[in-house]
Amino acid sequence: AVILGIESSCDETSASICINGEIKSNIIATQAIHAKYGGVVPELASRAHQQNIIPTVDQALQQAKITKNDVDAVAFTRGPGLLGSLLVGTSFAKSFALARNIPLIDINHMQAHILAHFIDDPKPNFPFLCLTVSGGHTQIVLVKDYFDMELIGQTLDDAAGEAFDKTAKILNLPYPGGPLIDKNAKLGNPNAFKLPEPQIPDLNFSFSGLKTAILYMVQGELKKNPNFLEENMNDICASVQERIVSILLNKLKKAAKQTGVKDVAIAGGVSANSGLRESLLAMGEKYKWRVFIPKFEYCTDNAAMIAIAGYHKYLKGEFVGQDVAPLARIPF
Ligand code: ATP
Ligand code: MG
Ligand code: FE
Repeated sequence: AVILGIESSCDETSASICINGEIKSNIIATQAIHAKYGGVVPELASRAHQQNIIPTVDQALQQAKITKNDVDAVAFTRGPGLLGSLLVGTSFAKSFALARNIPLIDINHMQAHILAHFIDDPKPNFPFLCLTVSGGHTQIVLVKDYFDMELIGQTLDDAAGEAFDKTAKILNLPYPGGPLIDKNAKLGNPNAFKLPEPQIPDLNFSFSGLKTAILYMVQGELKKNPNFLEENMNDICASVQERIVSILLNKLKKAAKQTGVKDVAIAGGVSANSGLRESLLAMGEKYKWRVFIPKFEYCTDNAAMIAIAGYHKYLKGEFVGQDVAPLARIPF
């Protein structure tokens, strides 16, 4: 089966072709316009999706060496995400399916981040644990089957990606700051600055206290030394990253202990973070886990994860009608 996947939940317009479970193309148009506003501007995002969607789909078809007549089903991100952005991908997918008289498949974006692990080998065995860390979510998920997932922990306030991006803002780094903190952290000392680890019950997370602690620390030091940021950038980034990673991995360790599950994965944009990847590998070795880390291109938003999720729904014959509507929030 040939599946066309469409992703438009936030600020990347993406299209992918999956043929019998194999990804043949994954075109991602990233919207540069948001950088100068320091965050995603929803209205601008919808307009950019509108401009990008047709060329992106054309490119995905071309790279897969097929035409639109070869497509057997269209999978699209129904949510969660920005409603105006979701509407562009949803409307496109509906029109495409209607015009070609082929099935339409709705996909939950957070499930798709996890299902990106079914693109390449080796693939995790069910049940496995997935720490999904992205711009809007921080979740620990017990994945029992492709579409049978149990949320066993989540953030009570900011997401891990937000913690990176908001810290970057405090450090005067441009948006999105996560990748820049990662880059600077490679050259810094992770023990240079002491930052608190919040005591949150169960498998839940909190990052807002950390953000405040960083803000006060930076403000205090700037009073003593106006060049504090420039002189200590790498050490601050390394210390912040070290703390965010330890918050995430301590809860993941707890989840593995509680469930007895030994296949452990990470997903979402923050799973591109080199500190998180390295520490997870070390932890996996220590606790004898099988660790799964997505390829970089499948960490942040992409349509390959939508297409592979669509393929598995296609096999089950789970389709939706033309009355389907996108949802900004979807209960897990
Ligand atoms: P959601 O999936 O929750 O709807 P989103 O789709 O906006 O949110 P993603 O595209 O999955 O999120 O991830 C984007 C986030 O990942 C941003 O917060 C970005 O800073 C962060 N990120 C990307 N690369 C890195 C990195 N190397 N280190 C830390 N954070 C990173
Ligand atoms: Mg994005
Ligand atoms: Fe995402």
